[in-house]
Amino acid sequence: MVQIKSAIASFGILFAYSTIATPLSKRAALDDCLKTAAVPALEFQSKDYNQSVKPFNLRVNFKPVAYSVPTTVKHIQDAVSCGAKNGIQVTPKSGGHSYGSHGLGGEDGHLIVDMRNFANVTLNLAEQTALIGTGGRLGDVATALYSQGKQAIVHGTCPGVGVGGLSLHGGYGMMSRGRGLTLDNILEVELVLANSSVVTASATKNPDLFYALRGAGAAFGIVTNFKFKTFTPPENNIVFNYNVRPGTSENLANMVTVLQNFAVNEQPAELNMRLTISPGSSLGGVYYGSREDYNKLMGPLLTKLGITGGQVSNNTWISTLSAFAYGPLQQAKPYDTHENFFAKSLMPSWLSAPAINALANYWNTTARTNTRAWYLMIDLHGGKSSAISKVGADSTAYAHRNATFKMQFYDRSFFGDYNPSWFSFLNGWIGNITAASPGENFGMYINYADTSLDKADAHKRYWLGHYDRLVGIKKAVDPKGVFEGPQLVGS
Ligand SMILES: Cc1cc2nc3c(=O)[nH]c(=O)nc-3n(C[C@H](O)[C@H](O)[C@H](O)COP(=O)(O)OP(=O)(O)OC[C@H]3O[C@@H](n4cnc5c(N)ncnc54)[C@H](O)[C@@H]3O)c2cc1C
Repeated sequence: MVQIKSAIASFGILFAYSTIATPLSKRAALDDCLKTAAVPALEFQSKDYNQSVKPFNLRVNFKPVAYSVPTTVKHIQDAVSCGAKNGIQVTPKSGGHSYGSHGLGGEDGHLIVDMRNFANVTLNLAEQTALIGTGGRLGDVATALYSQGKQAIVHGTCPGVGVGGLSLHGGYGMMSRGRGLTLDNILEVELVLANSSVVTASATKNPDLFYALRGAGAAFGIVTNFKFKTFTPPENNIVFNYNVRPGTSENLANMVTVLQNFAVNEQPAELNMRLTISPGSSLGGVYYGSREDYNKLMGPLLTKLGITGGQVSNNTWISTLSAFAYGPLQQAKPYDTHENFFAKSLMPSWLSAPAINALANYWNTTARTNTRAWYLMIDLHGGKSSAISKVGADSTAYAHRNATFKMQFYDRSFFGDYNPSWFSFLNGWIGNITAASPGENFGMYINYADTSLDKADAHKRYWLGHYDRLVGIKKAVDPKGVFEGPQLVGS
């Protein structure tokens, strides 16, 4: 290893060495190629490099072969070409928030293409559209759209998440029941393909690619920017957060049952809501409408749920976003927020009574005694009036249109490393729910990447019945597998 390090140093190499066996000759050839094309790259172990390879999820670390930071589309094309020529997998990274560190390749040995310099936001107010670079973070994008013309797009709640990963694989937030996922609001995509050509995908140009990019994007190219539909955000919004104290597993099962029925049959598009089960459980969300209508809608529901105390406030658009951001919308540079966790998801179309009982019993017997900062967040995702469910099941690669709930299971350590022996906590919870639901084909959300899934299971769970079509598109646009990762389509 010492010999390898010194050989690398003697080449004056830009990139990192990794512990995986990427032959030195390949690395040198990649380095030469990047240098010849003048693609900007971070020097191995420079301050910026060390900062950039530190993932959001500190539990999941990878060592790239090289770390490029292009400033032009030509640089991206050249980086892709250098990777392809030298048999090195190429991975775009935007906000770096993948739970499985997929923006760092999801394994050692990739050439990273960091999109930080592609973060422009250009609003066309008359058209109500915006060109948005994939390297921007949600809080910065929301702030820019609002300050340029009081506009907004649909997006997730965490302001540090990158536009790239969120939009290419889903994008659920507190506007989704009325306006769909982030990917439902993409009008056009510009991307660099595996053969280094630059193409546009939309409903009329490269429609197959457009389908694949909206739900499985990482495997198909490097997206430089999106054209999004924007909207004028509402300015008098009711943000609520109620304390939930189920006490017994029967009460929790009742709550989940009531919320499932409500999501499917009664919840209007103006109401976005999530139940967070944790050591301090809550029911929180936003209603876009009057206080009077809100009270009429929520009063009977809260009674059925046995909820009495909480906060309800009126908010502008920006303060609505801030209420769910748990911090400022605009993000520090360099971005330096991290957690240490294991997460899983389930996207059930319907939870049977035995499945709900299994969920509640596990909470009572096991989760309640876990002293780490865990949570199970249940978003009321689908149902009769949800804009997500109204989009045709096969019109995008996103495979969970019929999911009533979006369930995120998250277990983190605030003190020290996450110990692998703790994986059994969430695996056990999901195992009990699925074992109580024979015949149910549960989907999972790749934006909550689950590192415990093997390739075949990841493909099946993330893309369900869409997977075979996606593989066909992948073969057509990336036959040599330039964009691969352990859980991506076609890998
Ligand atoms: C704190 C936190 C809160 C979250 N909240 C929400 C939420 O409210 N709603 C929700 O839906 N999700 C949420 N997520 C999940 C989030 O959407 C995913 O983790 C998302 O993939 C992160 O995107 P990124 O660009 O930050 O990550 P990255 O790790 O940079 O990228 C994720 C994947 O996208 C690929 N990719 C990135 N950029 C490009 C590009 N330009 N072209 C092609 N492929 C690209 C990467 O290669 C990688 O496979 C949250 C995550 C975190 C950590």
